[in-house]
Amino acid sequence: MAIIIDGKAISESIRAEIAEEVKRLARRRIHPGLATVLVGDDPASHLYVRSKRRTCEELGITSIHHELPKTCTQKRLLALIADLNADPKVHGILVQMPLPKQIEEAAVLNAVDPAKDVDGFHPVNVGKLLNGEECFLPCTPAGCQQLLVRSGIDPAGKHVVIVGRSNIVGKPMAAILMQKAPGANATVTICHSRTPNIGAFTKQADIIVAAIGSPLFVKASMVKKGVVVIDVGQNRIEDSTKKSGSRLVGDVDFDNVVKKASAITPVPGGVGPMTITMLMKNTVEAAKRSRQTRD
Ligand code: NAP
Repeated sequence: MAIIIDGKAISESIRAEIAEEVKRLARRRIHPGLATVLVGDDPASHLYVRSKRRTCEELGITSIHHELPKTCTQKRLLALIADLNADPKVHGILVQMPLPKQIEEAAVLNAVDPAKDVDGFHPVNVGKLLNGEECFLPCTPAGCQQLLVRSGIDPAGKHVVIVGRSNIVGKPMAAILMQKAPGANATVTICHSRTPNIGAFTKQADIIVAAIGSPLFVKASMVKKGVVVIDVGQNRIEDSTKKSGSRLVGDVDFDNVVKKASAITPVPGGVGPMTITMLMKNTVEAAKRSRQTRD
């Protein structure tokens, strides 16, 4: 039977480490601060930001929050980011996506000081990641790497097949696992919507990372026995047995793939809890680095 990788438990143990680090930093009068910026009234975005702010409070990280109306201009948002870049109490800046149509996402991501880019989306950090230089790793793929490593699964020498090539998950996942570094050194293949016969690739995988946004896409017939599966997908599907009328499923047909896998993440309770945890880790790292630069 497969090991079910418990993202909640792994996330909690990393959060305990972060809380300890925050206490150690406080003794050196360093108080990590994360600024969250929310533009508009998208309910899901409000929920995500609330959850990030709550986690900050739990870990002793200062949460600085700004809300702008959905009619906000790009100029106004960029002016706020410039203020946050200059504020020494702010070590990390998170602008919640998506943004209203009148604002260009790339312009906003590029405006964040790379030293405060705790999402790891600034082109400077993306480039550093590829070059194998110290940088902020994007939170979701960094969380997937931690799930593997902390479950005793070393990607070194393994064939990892990633399904999905988005800038926030698939591409950085590949960049992280191909590095000449501990917890990496994998042989990586990326599949996407133009890849014919994806099963032919996933069947060769020692480790599969599914990040597509297509419910139950990866079937048991597409994997080999003993595969390790990391399911990033979060899809809501109808379920009349639930009070809400729906339930959350991943990109992997868990009930059947679990019978062939050696280890697998569930949805919910797998990758999900890791993303915010890695954001907190990056914020604390940013605070430490800011002091090192000033000293
Ligand atoms: P995205 O930006 O929509 O990218 C999806 C990727 O999957 C694209 O590269 C797309 O290919 C590929 N794809 C879509 N349908 C496919 C198919 N039928 N066959 C092969 N490839 C296909 O999505 P994302 O932001 O990476 O998110 C992916 C999933 O992860 C979503 O369910 C999202 O909710 C979830 N997610 C979870 C977390 C978390 O914290 N747990 C964080 C981020 C995302 P093309 O490039 O060719 O279009």
